[in-house]
Amino acid sequence: MTMVRQASAAATAARTAAQPMLDVERVRTDFPLLMQHRDGKPLVYLDNAATTQKPQVVVDSVKQYYEGYNANIHRGVYKLSQQATDAYEAARVKLQRFVNAAQPHEIIFLRGVTEAVNLVAHSFGRTSLVAGDEVVISAMEHHSNIVPWQIVCEATRARLRIVPMTDEGELELDEFEGLISAKTKLVALVHVSNSLGTINPVKEMVAIAHGHNVPVLVDGAQATPHMAVDVQDLDCDFYALSGHKMFGPTGIGILYGKAELLNAMPPYQGGGEMIRSVCFDKTTYAPLPAKFEAGTPNIAGAIGLGAAVDYLNGMSWDAIHAHEDDLLRYATESLETIPGLHVLGTAKEKASVVSFVLDGVHAHDIGTIVDKEGVAIRTGHHCTQPVMERLGVPATARASFAFYNTREEVDALVRAVHRVHEVFS
Ligand SMILES: *Cc1c(COP(=O)(O)O)cnc(C)c1O
Repeated sequence: MTMVRQASAAATAARTAAQPMLDVERVRTDFPLLMQHRDGKPLVYLDNAATTQKPQVVVDSVKQYYEGYNANIHRGVYKLSQQATDAYEAARVKLQRFVNAAQPHEIIFLRGVTEAVNLVAHSFGRTSLVAGDEVVISAMEHHSNIVPWQIVCEATRARLRIVPMTDEGELELDEFEGLISAKTKLVALVHVSNSLGTINPVKEMVAIAHGHNVPVLVDGAQATPHMAVDVQDLDCDFYALSGHKMFGPTGIGILYGKAELLNAMPPYQGGGEMIRSVCFDKTTYAPLPAKFEAGTPNIAGAIGLGAAVDYLNGMSWDAIHAHEDDLLRYATESLETIPGLHVLGTAKEKASVVSFVLDGVHAHDIGTIVDKEGVAIRTGHHCTQPVMERLGVPATARASFAFYNTREEVDALVRAVHRVHEVFS
């Protein structure tokens, strides 16, 4: 009897270890906005790839800063300023550990991925690209990892090369290696596609690029809300993330860069805080990270992002992955029962993003009708117009899930899209 009970306890333990469970209903109570009803219906928020909701601890951390110790950092000798400085620098260390960077000064606080890519483009790009050089990006980049390179390539007469994508939405790795040559100065790649959900094999791609001595920037905006990221394991040279995509505040994010590269790069913006000494003949710059943080930074945002990292550290990535994977499969299978519906982006490795089109219906009309049913999804090109062009559609409807979403919310989406189908048929 005891033996049987022990054996079954062991089996339960093994099952739990293999499939850690997320207590979604409990997790949802951490997010005040998810408790809302609109027009008597519960809000179904499925636009997490555009921005995520914030747990109460993040909101509180920002409020506590403004209410309790708001002061400018790195300047005052008084206690309040030191308290704010300590909190800001503690947030940097939290981000360092979150992406497993070797040193805290390899973490630069910026507005988000957009500013991070612009920093690398204007600082690294402008000083290392000459006419005829090449920058390699992929066919599934967000506009923020395309346009800064176009601007810098135009200024330096360098050329942009594009890694092609299959119909399923996977990058063509054989073509990638063929695009790299002695002219290539940088590769810039999205880790997880925001419009299709594809998880790219960035570690493998970094190894290929490094085989040709080419540094790699990774756009991690859609990876950090879904998976553990280790920049030393990936061995990427730059990694960018946005706080608001990973349950933190808007207007804050980071650029991780290897110290050796960042040290060699010129400042991106001039101003206060980034200098060692200023005279009209010559100004010398502060060491990292201050060299790249001109002006008063988003102190409250950095503190709030640190709180989001603490929050994520209290969860299990395995549990998040198991839950989101279930939502992805369930949503894909359920949506595909709707006549005329096609899911775009069927890569083998996918994050919880489902892009779809419905025959004879414009994506915008899908969004408007499902909104009437209380379901928030995104419609349009998702800042990836080249992806739409590659797949031959003007726009898609996109449901993107976070760990706090449920199967019931997927059901609400599917019911709402059935309504769209009825209205248009
Ligand atoms: C959102 C997003 C960006 C841009 O991030 P911002 O926070 O708007 O700067 C870049 N790349 C991807 C893949 C994104 O999803």
